[in-house]
Amino acid sequence: MMSRKHDVIVLGSGLAGLRAAIEAARSPEVDVAIISKVQLMRSHSVCAEGGTAAVLQPEEGDSFELHAWDTTRGADFLCDQDVVMHFVEEIPKEILLLEHWGIPWSRRPDGRVAQRSFGGHSFNRAVFAADKTGFFEMQALYDTLQKYNNVSRYDECYVTSILIKDNVFCGITAWDLTSGEFFLIQGKALVIATGGACRMFGFTTYSLTATGDGLAMAYRTGLPIKDLEFVQFHPTGLVPSGILITEAARSEGGYLLNNKGERFMEKYAPTKKEVAPRDIVSRSEITEIEEGRGFPGPDGLDYLHIDLRHLGADKINERLPMIREIAIKLNFIDPIYDPIPIRPAAHYFMGGVHTDIGGATLIEGIWAAGEAACVSLHGANRLGSNSTAECLVWGKIAGDKAVKHASKQRAFAPLPKETALQDEEARIFRRFNADAKESAYALRRELQKTMDSQVAVFRTGSELEAALNKVRELKQRLPDIQVRDRGRIYNTDLLSALEVENLLDLAEVIVTGALARTESRGAHSRRDYPQRDDTNWLMHTLAYYTPTGPRIDYIPVTITMWQPVERKY
Ligand SMILES: Cc1cc2nc3c(=O)[nH]c(=O)nc-3n(C[C@H](O)[C@H](O)[C@H](O)COP(=O)(O)OP(=O)(O)OC[C@H]3O[C@@H](n4cnc5c(N)ncnc54)[C@H](O)[C@@H]3O)c2cc1C
Repeated sequence: MMSRKHDVIVLGSGLAGLRAAIEAARSPEVDVAIISKVQLMRSHSVCAEGGTAAVLQPEEGDSFELHAWDTTRGADFLCDQDVVMHFVEEIPKEILLLEHWGIPWSRRPDGRVAQRSFGGHSFNRAVFAADKTGFFEMQALYDTLQKYNNVSRYDECYVTSILIKDNVFCGITAWDLTSGEFFLIQGKALVIATGGACRMFGFTTYSLTATGDGLAMAYRTGLPIKDLEFVQFHPTGLVPSGILITEAARSEGGYLLNNKGERFMEKYAPTKKEVAPRDIVSRSEITEIEEGRGFPGPDGLDYLHIDLRHLGADKINERLPMIREIAIKLNFIDPIYDPIPIRPAAHYFMGGVHTDIGGATLIEGIWAAGEAACVSLHGANRLGSNSTAECLVWGKIAGDKAVKHASKQRAFAPLPKETALQDEEARIFRRFNADAKESAYALRRELQKTMDSQVAVFRTGSELEAALNKVRELKQRLPDIQVRDRGRIYNTDLLSALEVENLLDLAEVIVTGALARTESRGAHSRRDYPQRDDTNWLMHTLAYYTPTGPRIDYIPVTITMWQPVERKY
């Protein structure tokens, strides 16, 4: 059994993790580790397609205030407005940094960085690299990280727990999937950048690996999870795979059509139409389908169309080449000639590990950034292109704070127990047995079915109660999961069991928070409480782990500029 030591541990190598690692590595005296359950560049962030929001052209009419207002209104006023203002001021600097680090941003004819519109933004401010923005951003960060020789990589290592003593971070335990080794890394500072968990839904745009491990570990370590009931459904998940058809397909001019060929968004959001915020477009789509104006799809996945034909081949090939490729390869449809079948798909967690504006959590030495964190930027509904932007801004902030903290610590904090590593190893490898009855894959499917049908775009109290009972029943069946593979190398059987446990803990937090929140706000839309209720519910949900289920608490929203008003688009 091995124990290693690094001053700063970055858990996750997506956009937030890579950006944090670069910032930490800029201090040459500090030893940085970056750890990822997949190969570093296979992180989910490479999937980001459409763009990253930033104010770059103030002389053409955009402004920080406008970006902040769009974000706040989009968030249905549940964001912290000091956080929003800080965000809009910082992100342009990150765009320029990436430019200096060699990213091939798409350009305007005059050579300046091009920007496209995105849902809920009132200015064309999404910077992009065709429809592969995340891939190119990851590549630019990855290349930059190669400059530093004080960074150790732990690829394909699955972190199982975060160790603390007396509310101070001291290390993590991890399983090297390639060698089977189980080891401890002691650290002085940790940045949690493990992404979201929409894989608890069946119809989702997420990578298979996005199972919320870091969120679940943080929760079990005692960190509160904030606003997790707010799950974003993206209006254009390709039917039946769920692969994303980027919002850029609409911002480049694509139409959403029902089975009568009508541009139905004209009814629901007369000004913004297809580029209204995602919560509004997703609700409109489900309404069209429920009222009989959809197309029948497989396994209940009734759908609508996104039509790009009028954009023409040149524009589709220049601006949306990957979307064309996806449609051709997965659905045998060429968008130059045919509309694409789509419906809302689970896409993003607005909630996450509760942090302050500096990315700090309530445990000394732990920061969180990116989709795993909830700094309260997106509130009840994120605007498209604000997430990659958040990863860059708070990746940098968290990396910077973590490295400063680590530099001040003379020694590594003591472990909670001398046998911490052995105890965790036993918990991981000896808990499940080969003769048990349950299948982790079946449990995951049952969870996904429940979440898809009862915790979706529209929710009701009775559905949420049924979902909570089901999640609790699945949790009780967890210990009886059969893990037939007794090996340690690439044991995907065991991995799947560990992931489903994490998904179940987080599903319980989502459903408990959603049941308690008796109003409709942003992506949380209750048919039995259709109105937003600012008197009672303009507050953040905090969920604390207890062995019998989450304990819920609430904290106020920070309002510095705008009181809530009705959202009209
Ligand atoms: C298809 C798609 C397209 C999108 N397009 C856009 C867009 O155009 N613009 C935009 O702003 N947003 C977009 N988003 C959202 C955005 O891409 C994500 O929110 C963002 O990339 C998340 O980055 P992250 O760094 O927080 O986490 P991730 O990229 O999810 O990285 C998580 C990291 O944590 C690691 N990890 C997790 N668990 C463990 C564990 N147990 N042990 C070790 N490592 C672990 C993973 O290996 C990975 O390295 C899109 C999302 C999807 C699904």
